[in-house]
Amino acid sequence: MKEQFRLLRELQSLKLAADEHQKLILGHQGRVALLEKNRHQRQDQLQQDQSQLEQIKTELAQKEQLLNQQSDRLTRSKKQMNLVTSEHELKTREHEVEVLTPLVESLETNVFELMEKIESLTEQINEGENYLAGSLHSLKEISQEVEQDISKENQAISNLAQRMEALFSELPENIQSKIKRIWDKKAVALTTVEKNACRYCGLSVNRTELDEIDRALTYKFCSSCGRLFLPAYL
Ligand SMILES: [Zn+2]
Repeated sequence: MKEQFRLLRELQSLKLAADEHQKLILGHQGRVALLEKNRHQRQDQLQQDQSQLEQIKTELAQKEQLLNQQSDRLTRSKKQMNLVTSEHELKTREHEVEVLTPLVESLETNVFELMEKIESLTEQINEGENYLAGSLHSLKEISQEVEQDISKENQAISNLAQRMEALFSELPENIQSKIKRIWDKKAVALTTVEKNACRYCGLSVNRTELDEIDRALTYKFCSSCGRLFLPAYL
């Protein structure tokens, strides 16, 4: 019986070692997932920037056309001012110039602002494209590295699993399945008595039970957390 308890302790430490390898695998996968997530975000941003750039270019073309029309009209009105033959005509031309001058000025400002926006968006797009090209390269490298790391971890896990199966085969079948069922829910399937209670869940253990556990006479499971009690001295 004591020998079986020793086997169980060894099994538990192999199980924890396998869990550590499993955690490392998750960490490796997380690295790749994070990089992919960043790339997707930048890709989305790049697409938004590109479509905004197209919109602004269209808007700029329209504003430039309008600016050309209005400044032609302004030039014409100014020229005609020199050729007026009546007071009435002069007033009409003056009014035209008065209205057209601020209109042309505001269109010029508008065109200038749009050109600046195009410049900064183009810069942002170039940066995005460079980032995506560079990070694609590192993603490939890291993915390869991670693949190797994961295959090492899987090898270690399968070695541990083989050793565990060998140890399990020396235990009664009902105990094997019981321990495996506990492991489905908990990382640790074994417990000991500490200050007259289960060290994991704190359920109190009476004298008789403690005596049975200490003498390693039988398999005793904690009725609260379900773990198997091992004598403290083992
Ligand atoms: Zn317990």
